[in-house]
Amino acid sequence: MTVKLYEDDPYLREFTATVTKVEGDWVVLDRTAFYPGGGGQERDRGTLDGLEVTGIKGKEEISHQIPRHNLTVGSQVKGVLDWENRYGLMKAHTGEHLLFSSLSRRTEMELVKISLSKEKKVLIVKGHLDWDMVRDAVHEVNDIIAAGAEVTCQHVNRENIGEGGPRVKLDRISDRMVRVVSIGEHDSAACAGVHLKNAMEVGMLLVSKFTSAKPAGDWEIEFQVGPEAVRTAVDHSVRSLMLAERMGALPQDSLTAFDNRDRELTKAREALKTYGKLALSSLQPEKLGEWKFYSGSFTGLDRKLVMEKANEMVADGNSIAALVCQDDKTFLVLACSADVKLDCVSLLNSVLSQHGGRGGGKPNFASGGTSVQIEPSVLLAEISRLLITR
Ligand SMILES: [Zn+2]
Repeated sequence: MTVKLYEDDPYLREFTATVTKVEGDWVVLDRTAFYPGGGGQERDRGTLDGLEVTGIKGKEEISHQIPRHNLTVGSQVKGVLDWENRYGLMKAHTGEHLLFSSLSRRTEMELVKISLSKEKKVLIVKGHLDWDMVRDAVHEVNDIIAAGAEVTCQHVNRENIGEGGPRVKLDRISDRMVRVVSIGEHDSAACAGVHLKNAMEVGMLLVSKFTSAKPAGDWEIEFQVGPEAVRTAVDHSVRSLMLAERMGALPQDSLTAFDNRDRELTKAREALKTYGKLALSSLQPEKLGEWKFYSGSFTGLDRKLVMEKANEMVADGNSIAALVCQDDKTFLVLACSADVKLDCVSLLNSVLSQHGGRGGGKPNFASGGTSVQIEPSVLLAEISRLLITR
């Protein structure tokens, strides 16, 4: 049985202990301040006699993995925690309890998973959630943090836990005694993790990501605490102010301004498509040798639409269509009727290759482009010349 120093003093950064068992790389100590992980909180990091602890396991007997150690039973060791990592995890864990309870005061919700590490702090829940609830919950959490609330731990007999008691999934706990972590009057939950003494130490909590997750109905909530949360909040705030300025709106109106612009963009796209179809349909062929030759250049049109229209133009027989679609690059479509014996792919490539571009397709339909803008009349003139001289 290893004495869990982190339970009585979560702020203990260094300790001495005696080795009670050695199994290869794994060393059991009579007491430890290293939290083996659990309740979603990642295991501690640090060193034992200067050697990195690469794994921690066990419940009653806590075993520490120390590759290349030369410890034996009875050895005295000094443990040093990576305190920055641990203190960050304590802030994250206390913050997570506050966030979950604040959210559950707003909607019926079920906890799916917690994952707290230095790099990422994630809460996955199932329920009906939206951005307004997230914002209100985060406000509430930060109010509690600012006011401060004492965090206490006590072991409660599972038989005494009833309706209205702490949040607990008794089916997941086998022990008779359940460790309950309470944050003032705000939250009370079964938890084996390492917590702060006072919620004030969290400093600040910020939700940095809120997205729907699989399966449907699950939500992934990523959050940050302490100085990291402050930095992100400032970055997000400045970016949001810059965005509002570019939208020509007040920050509080920027979402409405974005929606309005989105609607305008959809309308403009639809109008462009309508006029594009009209322009493509009114294109008249000229005579080129024995063929009807459709050629034209269109700026900003959807490439798929241009390809569809090229196919329609050559459907009648004895026709060739060369259409250029111009945006920040130049896209060329070359199509011919089934009765026209042309290799559109090689013809298209002999034109595009002169401008560093290329394309592909079938003998009677090819398309391709260049990575820069090429004057459409140049491409079309080259195609006409090649068709006449072939
Ligand atoms: Zn917990």
